[in-house]
Amino acid sequence: MKLAIVLPCYNEEAILEDSFRSLDEVFSRLVAQGKIDEESFICFVDDGSKDGTWPIIERLSKEHERVVGIKLSRNYGHQNALLAGLFNVDADAVITMDADLQDDTDAIEKMVDAYAQGNKIVYGVKRTREADSAFKKVTAHGFYRLMEWMGVDIVYNHADCRLLDREVIGYLKEFREVNLFLRGIVPLIGFPSTTVEYDLRERKKGDSKYSLRKMLSFAWNGITSFSIFPLRLISYTGFIIFAGSLVLTVWAFWVKYFTNDAIPGWASTVLPIYFIGGIQVLSLGIIGEYIGKIYLETKARPRFIME
Ligand code: UDP
Ligand code: MG
Repeated sequence: MKLAIVLPCYNEEAILEDSFRSLDEVFSRLVAQGKIDEESFICFVDDGSKDGTWPIIERLSKEHERVVGIKLSRNYGHQNALLAGLFNVDADAVITMDADLQDDTDAIEKMVDAYAQGNKIVYGVKRTREADSAFKKVTAHGFYRLMEWMGVDIVYNHADCRLLDREVIGYLKEFREVNLFLRGIVPLIGFPSTTVEYDLRERKKGDSKYSLRKMLSFAWNGITSFSIFPLRLISYTGFIIFAGSLVLTVWAFWVKYFTNDAIPGWASTVLPIYFIGGIQVLSLGIIGEYIGKIYLETKARPRFIME
């Protein structure tokens, strides 16, 4: 099996050499064991780095037959860099990993084994997150739960460390959306798949390229690319306000005819506010439902894939 590993790199000059050496060792071992072909290779994708990342990739690729590089014209973001790698390498299976090798390289062999057993997609799942801050652990956990709750098919604790078969990558090309959230798209492709577990390690050198702001916007992108639930929430809210206004109306009549507490002018002032407010929000929600449909149609995702 000819394997390619794709590693997106954004300002990773500090760690690139180390990462290459670790991967090279793993490759040599797997080749010796006959698990992967001699022609298997490592592909670094430079995502518009501003530091010395590209010169290092150039040098590594000159010195080692096993290394190739792709240079993007500017910073397109992690997900697009992954796609650039996936769509431009020629291999039977491609593993994507972060260039900082926080995902344990042991996962590679496990993935190759799972592939040999006939799985076309192998999801790398973080068993532990010791390297992550408490904040990141809590937010990540909350995010996966929220996605699940909104009905998005997503593998728990799986980020972008995964193996994809050549055929699966071919089908990935049919998902033309530009709001990329790969971990949501891949499960939609289907085919036999499995998970392998690994430990998340500390980042040895360099800093995280995902600021809190980037992380939140990525999570929001994930939600809005796969669920129209936020729009539906408007319909629910509108309906609740509208129903509440009806109940309030009944209550106002009851106060007027069965008690002596009626305040002149109260009902005719307050009730219309809730009644019309409820109808307005509900109407927005209904418009939202149609916009949601249009949104899903414009993605033009394949309606089925034949195995
Ligand atoms: N990355 C990228 N483009 C970006 C930001 C990040 O290609 O705009 C790469 C980065 O070089 C690394 C991977 O995405 O290989 C994950 O980033 P990082 O390790 O900083 O994220 P963290 O592990 O802290 O979530
Ligand atoms: Mg990292």
